[in-house]
Amino acid sequence: MKIIFATTNLHKLKEVRQIFGFTPKELPGLQDFPLIDEIPETGKSFVENAIIKAKAVYSILKLPVIADDSGIEVDHLQGEPGIYSARYAGVNATDNDNNKKVIENLKPFNPPYNARYVCAAVYFNGTDLITTEGYCNGEIIKEQRGNNGFGYDPHFIPVGYNITMAELPVEVKNKISHRFSAFSKLKELLNEKIDL
Ligand code: IMP
Repeated sequence: MKIIFATTNLHKLKEVRQIFGFTPKELPGLQDFPLIDEIPETGKSFVENAIIKAKAVYSILKLPVIADDSGIEVDHLQGEPGIYSARYAGVNATDNDNNKKVIENLKPFNPPYNARYVCAAVYFNGTDLITTEGYCNGEIIKEQRGNNGFGYDPHFIPVGYNITMAELPVEVKNKISHRFSAFSKLKELLNEKIDL
C-alpha cells in the first residue's frame, strides 16, 4: 500500500487510481477500513474540508493519506451549491433531488447558466501538507442528458463540448475533470518529494 484515499465514493476512487496509475491495493479507499466513521465536513471551503478529511484519517491510521472535496458553483446562484453540493437539497438528498433544486433556483434567470466544477486535493503524512485545486468550466442545462458519471453531470456541458458530462465517455471526462486537474497537480508535487 502506498497511500490511502479518504473517500467511500467509488467513482472518485476509480478516477484517482487511474490518474496515479495505482492498483486498488496500492491506493485503498475507506471501504477497506469500515471502522472509520463518516467524517463531518465542517470547513468553510473545499480545501478546508479536504484537509479535515485527510487529517482525520491520518490521526486514526497514521499512514499517508490523500483526500478531496469537490462540488459545483453556479454563477447565477452566487456560487451555490458550492461546498454543499452533495447535500444541497438536504442531508439525505439524492443526486436527482439536488439537480432539481438547482434547476428550480435557476428558473428566474435566462441562460446561459455558467458554472464550474471545483476540486481541492490534499496529501498529508503527519508532517507534509500539500494542497492543490482544479477546475472544469461549463454551463448548466435545464434538461438531463446522458447516463455516465454522477451528481450534476447530466446537466453540465463542459466548455468546448456540446454534450453533457454524463454523455461523454468516462475516459474523456477523466481527462478534463476538475478532479483530474487537481490530482494531476498533486501527483506532480508528490513526485518531487517522494518516490511514488
Ligand atoms: P464530496 O464527496 O463532498 O466531494 O461531494 C461532492 C459532490 O459534488 C457530489 O456529491 C456531487 O454532487 C458533486 N460533484 C463533485 N464532483 C462531481 C463530478 O465529477 N460530477 C458531478 N457531480 C460532482
